[in-house]
Amino acid sequence: MEAPSILSIEFDGISLTCVWCGSLVPKDSATSACPNCAGSLEVVYDYNKIQERFHGALPVVKEGGGIWRFSPILPLNSSANCVSLGEGASPYHRIQKIGSILGMRDLFVKDESRNPTCSFKDRKSAVAISKAIEDGYGKVLAATAGNAGSSVAAYAAKAGIESYILAFQGISRAKLAKLLAYGATVFLTKASTGDVLEFTAKVCDRYHLQNCSAASRYNPYVKEGAKTAVFEIYEQTEGKLPDWIIVPVGGGGNLSAYFKGLKELKALGLIEKYPRLIGVQASGCAPVVEAFERKLDPKNIPKIKNPKTIAHSILDDWAPDGDIALVSIRETSGLAVSVSEEEIISATKELSGIEGIYAEPSSATPLAALRKLLSARTVDKDESVALIVTGFGLNQPDAIVDNSPSPMENLDLDITTFGKYIKNGN
Ligand SMILES: [Zn+2]
Repeated sequence: MEAPSILSIEFDGISLTCVWCGSLVPKDSATSACPNCAGSLEVVYDYNKIQERFHGALPVVKEGGGIWRFSPILPLNSSANCVSLGEGASPYHRIQKIGSILGMRDLFVKDESRNPTCSFKDRKSAVAISKAIEDGYGKVLAATAGNAGSSVAAYAAKAGIESYILAFQGISRAKLAKLLAYGATVFLTKASTGDVLEFTAKVCDRYHLQNCSAASRYNPYVKEGAKTAVFEIYEQTEGKLPDWIIVPVGGGGNLSAYFKGLKELKALGLIEKYPRLIGVQASGCAPVVEAFERKLDPKNIPKIKNPKTIAHSILDDWAPDGDIALVSIRETSGLAVSVSEEEIISATKELSGIEGIYAEPSSATPLAALRKLLSARTVDKDESVALIVTGFGLNQPDAIVDNSPSPMENLDLDITTFGKYIKNGN
């Protein structure tokens, strides 16, 4: 898909502010934290002006490709810099069969695995790479568990700039294949999430690369892309957002972005109350859940030693955006819950085998969490729930292959004996 031509709105009214102390920060400091308190930066817009121009409707323009149809509330100055691979516009399905097993009528999946590189990260990369172009960067660097980096590499390829990716050793071959296919220069490391992210930030400062790691703490523009999923849900539900939205949490950036999208819907007068946000982590790597349960200060989210889970895409021993994720959960009267390995595998099979939605393990955690919360009666069966499937199952194919019965090998092509293998043969 070609980049959109002319967008209807000029972006003359955005600012960057610190999420903690509210300081206004010059736009050219975009990749740095707040100079006063080291908090993350966030883009804010002139919401009154947007509301006036769009007469109280969602700010959508016809000319935008991918997420750029929401350009009046995205941080680009010129449409000439928009990079798009047709990200966004992902389906919002009612999953009736699992719903009926759980006794629910209004259970939905926002299927973000349909994005161009098979994960929601494409929303982030579209904005991060476009902004890198606009700010004159010819090279970008990202730390990644796999999906974020391959998405950055794809958009960098489309934009004609170089991508350097630091990925974690143990990354699936599928994710590695994506990185290599999109032409990234790839480095693998055994260092922890926190150490790699800090190293990445230092390299970017020293060698003048744009940091396109998917954490808002290092690039406030990624949140702007990710929030567009909420605008789509608003459209897809005709303004009747679900009671609960359940989001997998690794670094915490996506859930934080959902909350920003909700805050903007409210600022534009489009909603009155927030859906409640639930963040889900794997029990073997759950720093945000620990902070939620222990009522910790969001600035003191623990680092996890020896994290372990099959849900590789949320295997973050440190959550760079966990502070904002925790605030988002608290401000929406939401929850943070963890799920076991068995629950994750079972939910992965349930989504694919019953509903035809093949999610990677991290993306099945919302269904696993929902089961627990229904049992505990924390979520009521009559409430509406959206599960966010963030990535496609083939990003990590071994998870299913290693946890399923092996196919029969060396089959004899004998038509008579084959009948006994067919369930309900007639
Ligand atoms: Zn600050």
